[in-house]
Amino acid sequence: QKTHYPQTKDGLEAAGVKYLAASFVDMHGVSKAKMVPIHHYDRMMEGSELFTGAALDGVPQEVSDEEVAAVPDPASAKILPWDPEVAWFASDLRCEGKPFEAGSRNILKRVLSQAEHRGYGLNLGMEAEFFVLEDTPDGGYTPVSKRHNLEKPAYDLARLLDNKAWFGPLAEAMDGLDWGLYSFDHEDGIGQVEFDFKFFPALQMADNYVFFRMMANEIARQHGAFATFMPKPFGDRAGSGAHYNMSLYDLESGGNLFAADDDPRGNHLSTLGYQFTAGILKHLPAICAVVAPFVNSYKRLVKQGSMSGFTWAPIFCCYGNNNRTNTVRIPLEGKRVELRAADSACNPYLGAALVLAAGLEGIEQELDPGEPHTENMYLKTQEDLENAGIEMLPKTLNHALDAFEADPLTKTVFGEAMHGSWLDFKRQEWLAYMNHVSDWEKDRYLKFF
Ligand code: GLU
Ligand code: MG
Ligand code: MG
Repeated sequence: QKTHYPQTKDGLEAAGVKYLAASFVDMHGVSKAKMVPIHHYDRMMEGSELFTGAALDGVPQEVSDEEVAAVPDPASAKILPWDPEVAWFASDLRCEGKPFEAGSRNILKRVLSQAEHRGYGLNLGMEAEFFVLEDTPDGGYTPVSKRHNLEKPAYDLARLLDNKAWFGPLAEAMDGLDWGLYSFDHEDGIGQVEFDFKFFPALQMADNYVFFRMMANEIARQHGAFATFMPKPFGDRAGSGAHYNMSLYDLESGGNLFAADDDPRGNHLSTLGYQFTAGILKHLPAICAVVAPFVNSYKRLVKQGSMSGFTWAPIFCCYGNNNRTNTVRIPLEGKRVELRAADSACNPYLGAALVLAAGLEGIEQELDPGEPHTENMYLKTQEDLENAGIEMLPKTLNHALDAFEADPLTKTVFGEAMHGSWLDFKRQEWLAYMNHVSDWEKDRYLKFF
């Protein structure tokens, strides 16, 4: 059953929809909404649903400020596969008759329109990695599959099949939405999976990724489990990425502007693709603060700490060929670039906006990223790195926020209000983390002397 169509009131009604969720995201990329009975469809589409910004994390508004209105995008309509009486709409935000400067979707649209002026569109594919776990009576969590743990569970079929109760409905739901799910597997963490589906124009992909996190969770919950998009739920296992696979396309012809048969570096990537890559590398530390947005995100961006050896997560500001030890990777068939720093907890609108702006700057300034790294970057010594001038990615959220604050591009992209709001909220988050003394510290230090 197709669940993404229809997009008109009559079509939705005929499909049995009774309620419409006029949804938008908070700074974290979590869906927030008012539910509207379907007979109010027309009013809702005109922006009848108002929200108090101050009630949400990171919305730079005072309680006394004008409310923001959600203006649903009819093309984003999706009937919830797990509850077909409800249809979900991604919305832009409007305040005092103008686009709301600090809305995540509005921010991405602003950067997309800058790309459009130059004749470019952004295609984005996001690889969805996450863990599906069950609560335990002692307040902990455990993988759905109760088989003994393996050091290398990647691609394990038996453990994947133990998850069929929820993955069957999820796969069917994705097919119903016409997302072109082409494979899913067990990843390197116990209970970790990856679902791979087709790429979309960036705005649509960001809508879909927000919807996906909600859908995976709701469907897992119907089967006694939950999906977690926390980037690193187990310290000794790989974390969850949400790699951004990107290419610019020509708005007129639709042609992929990153494709090249005559790439002298042998990666089937065009000059435009290299310039875009160089722009990302230039702004990478600041980008990390957005695509790896949690304190916990930086426990993922490490070399070791996985029982199977490496974590497959990036740690250096560098790019290379089809080799997972680079932060920006050009996959084997070329024609696109993959940003591996992005994790499962990112707000995809804000992440895509900043990455696109960085890439466009690379094109504008005709930057060159230098020669691609084809070697195992994890094996580099400190001396190798210094000789090659390769910096580490930020080691903590606080380091990333320093870079975010110091990089003028972030304010241009986020706008004054959201920029300040992001920094305030995230600095507070860091402080709250530092104010917590963990069991690990107590075990180690309390009775040390
Ligand atoms: N889970 C890894 C990460 O954190 C990526 C593994 C892969 O390349 O699929 O980015
Ligand atoms: Mg993976
Ligand atoms: Mg990938």
